[in-house]
Amino acid sequence: MTVAEPTSEPEAESAVETARRQLERAAAHLDVDEGIVERLRHPTSVYRVTIPLERDDGTTEMFTGYRAHHDSVRGPYKGGLRYHPDVNEDECIGLSMWMTWKCAVMDLPFGGAKGGVVVNPKELSNTEKERLTRRFAEELRPVIGPMKDIPAPDMGTDPETMAWFMDAYSMQEGETTPGAVTGKPPVVGGSHGREKAPGRSVGIIAREAIDYYDWDIENTTVAVQGFGSVGANAARYLDERGATIVAVSDVDGAIYNPDGFDTNDVEDHDETPGMVSGYDAPETLTNAELLELDVDVLIPAAIGNVLTGENARRVSADLIIEGANGPTTSTADQIFEERDVPVIPDILANAGGVTVSYFEWLQDINRRAWSLDRVHEELETEMLRAWEAVREEYDARDVTWRDAAYLVALQRIAAAHEARGLWP
Ligand code: GLU
Repeated sequence: MTVAEPTSEPEAESAVETARRQLERAAAHLDVDEGIVERLRHPTSVYRVTIPLERDDGTTEMFTGYRAHHDSVRGPYKGGLRYHPDVNEDECIGLSMWMTWKCAVMDLPFGGAKGGVVVNPKELSNTEKERLTRRFAEELRPVIGPMKDIPAPDMGTDPETMAWFMDAYSMQEGETTPGAVTGKPPVVGGSHGREKAPGRSVGIIAREAIDYYDWDIENTTVAVQGFGSVGANAARYLDERGATIVAVSDVDGAIYNPDGFDTNDVEDHDETPGMVSGYDAPETLTNAELLELDVDVLIPAAIGNVLTGENARRVSADLIIEGANGPTTSTADQIFEERDVPVIPDILANAGGVTVSYFEWLQDINRRAWSLDRVHEELETEMLRAWEAVREEYDARDVTWRDAAYLVALQRIAAAHEARGLWP
């Protein structure tokens, strides 16, 4: 397919615009009722709350929080909570749509949600973060719950945040309700393996994709942007299976070693912030240079919109596996399609996070914890099942990997809408 050179980059495209465009592309391949597609273009509800926070110095500051509910035809809403200065309503809606597709690709009985607070968590003390979280939980309490909407960690939030959230919810409800939120510490009903699951699934899907293209993992070079929970765990998973991890980065820059790093030797960003760029490596690079390295596999696992119309033609990797949510803009996607560079999408690759969230929710409801081995085994099974479903669509039609994943998701969601109908 030939695509005209983009003249002006529509990179100002918001997450919701990207998500709608991707939905429409998938719908064009299917005989889906237009009314259902129209419903899926819009969120069911978007909640905006104001959170008053008493700062440690005694002053009061107001913060804005959101929770977008996209679609719940297959089950309760599910998705993370993000603490970041760039959080806004459109981003939450777009990310909630991606959660709907992600849960459907994985065939989990959940719909899609996303929320967050417009705040830089690095500027809050731990006690301020706790007060903000508890009040946010209280503001959202009417619209969340284990059978309604189950939040989880995302950028800027972690298991500790989820423990406070669960505690605030439980205290107000008058009963300990671990299933109201996932990604908690295991001592309060969190699942073993949840924290490492998104990175692990990126590793599993990369392994399958390497195999699909008949490459030998032992001769595969990999660059990973972002050495936080997703990137570090994906890199370590692939390193353990023989791949050569030649470059990793954090927000301050990248380190490069053509002979590969021992990824267990490089501490991840969550363990020690600043460790990556401080690591004694043969060469340092910028994050922009890392994205253009001549490697077999590139894993963008930091933030959204890093592969754009500006750099996509210079990306030299032969395969891209999306670790972050939405790292590739629509323009970049078109360029990769034209250049025949496969991009395995976020909604499949990093879906291990929400999949182990589902395992956590089951464990909470049943009040019975699973072993780490069981989590790993069942995650492997679910990832392979989803990979096979997407691969079948990819092999059967002349589409991109992203389209193939959307086709799997959309067929399941559309069938559920078809069966339930529109009421009244
Ligand atoms: N925030 C994660 C994601 O984007 C996980 C969501 C969840 O576990 O509910 O997939």
